Amino acid sequence: MPFSRRDFLKTFTAGAALNYAPLGLASKSPVQTNAKVVILGAGAAGAALANRFSDAMGGGSITVIDGRKEHLYQPGLTLVAAGLKPGNYVVSQTTDWLPQGVNLITDWVSEVDPVSQTIFTQSGHKVSYDVLVVAMGCRLAYEKIEGMSKDLIGQHGIGSVYAGPEYAEKTWRLLDAFTDKGGRAVFSRPGTEMKCAGQPLKYTFLTEDYAARKGTRDRVEIEYLGHDSNLFGVPIVHEKLRMLFEARDIATDFNHVMTAIDPGRQVATFQTPTGLVEKEFDFTNVIPPMVAPDPILNSDLKWQTGAWAEQGWMEVDKSSLRHVRYPNVFAVGDIAGVPKGKTAASVKWQVPVVVDHVLADLEGRESDQSFNGYTSCPLITKIGRAMLIEFDYNNNLTPSFPGVIAPLEELWISWLMKEVALKATYNAMLRGRA
Ligand SMILES: Cc1cc2nc3c(=O)[nH]c(=O)nc-3n(C[C@H](O)[C@H](O)[C@H](O)COP(=O)(O)OP(=O)(O)OC[C@H]3O[C@@H](n4cnc5c(N)ncnc54)[C@H](O)[C@@H]3O)c2cc1C
Repeated sequence: MPFSRRDFLKTFTAGAALNYAPLGLASKSPVQTNAKVVILGAGAAGAALANRFSDAMGGGSITVIDGRKEHLYQPGLTLVAAGLKPGNYVVSQTTDWLPQGVNLITDWVSEVDPVSQTIFTQSGHKVSYDVLVVAMGCRLAYEKIEGMSKDLIGQHGIGSVYAGPEYAEKTWRLLDAFTDKGGRAVFSRPGTEMKCAGQPLKYTFLTEDYAARKGTRDRVEIEYLGHDSNLFGVPIVHEKLRMLFEARDIATDFNHVMTAIDPGRQVATFQTPTGLVEKEFDFTNVIPPMVAPDPILNSDLKWQTGAWAEQGWMEVDKSSLRHVRYPNVFAVGDIAGVPKGKTAASVKWQVPVVVDHVLADLEGRESDQSFNGYTSCPLITKIGRAMLIEFDYNNNLTPSFPGVIAPLEELWISWLMKEVALKATYNAMLRGRA
């Protein structure tokens, strides 16, 4: 191990204030430090981290590196692809969210060297750090589906909500035309880990709902193909979804992973336990395999064995989100190799935990903060109805509003949480205030 936790504590304890209150209570005295904190990525997690550290640190420096100037509110993509919001609903500028005093480097990270504690960027910046928090999200690996490319989205019945706002708009136009005309819709999800695992299910429900509203339901055939033997990783939610799909005449099959797509024939190929299976479609929402961005995938920070090593997720402790081999490195958000939590709602709970662990290191104390795997999915089932599903690492349902919002009921209020309240909460989170 290049740099032990004890070394790290020794380096930064001198002069640190002792009375920092965790969870971003900015009224407490900031921790006095000379530490260089570097945050990779300025998405949901990166912006929230920058604000929390900025409130909590007196001295030192905070550097954020992201190659994209725009900030994307990704939970809004489903609403864009449902024809309910324009594409620009999800787009803002990264600089809108970062506090003063933070150094923003607008460049792509090309390499992370946790031994020399140095970040290299594509245009030649070399940035050293004392504390590194990686928040670079997922890379959408469309190329892992043979025949697929983002250029196809919006043609040949191929939609893809994940690709970005303009593609979500194109996907909406396809869905709208498909539910006017009718035909066969095939939905699926990748075999890798993915952000917002509820999204493919939501879009299946929305397609069915639009056809029913337009009076074309009898001309529309819908099939949902799970990547393993479940519709959802939490058993009780799987069972509820199975019943809803059955009631709405949505066919299901399992252990299907899309490996190829032929736009000309409008056929998708799936790997199944019994070999390759072809499915014809008039409409599909391609959810690409998701992997860690290359600088992490190609670094020593990823898991060393198993599927998470292949996909590149960072090898962090699932409670503290601290790297297991490099104690001055943390992962927050989608890039963390933990069993649950690839949602913006998880980021909200992860950020204060990581900030407190870093500050505890700077102050020479132990942090007792831990992330319990909280994951939330406002699972839209119809326009105006959703189930607010929240759970933890142990698959316990963890409702935020017990007695008010029942997790497994299709409610108007849960819909409002997704359609109206989520963006305000997300924005407050970016500012370090939620
Ligand atoms: C269609 C869709 C619907 C969703 N719905 C919901 C929902 O309803 N509820 C919910 O809670 N969550 C939802 N999510 C998930 C949520 O958006 C993500 O979990 C969240 O954005 C994760 O935050 P992050 O900071 O880890 O990643 P991101 O927000 O993706 O940010 C990653 C940042 O890293 C940057 N980056 C990547 N590579 C590099 C590099 N090499 N160098 C520098 N910077 C780099 C990117 O430019 C980006 O700004 C949805 C996501 C999608 C796509």
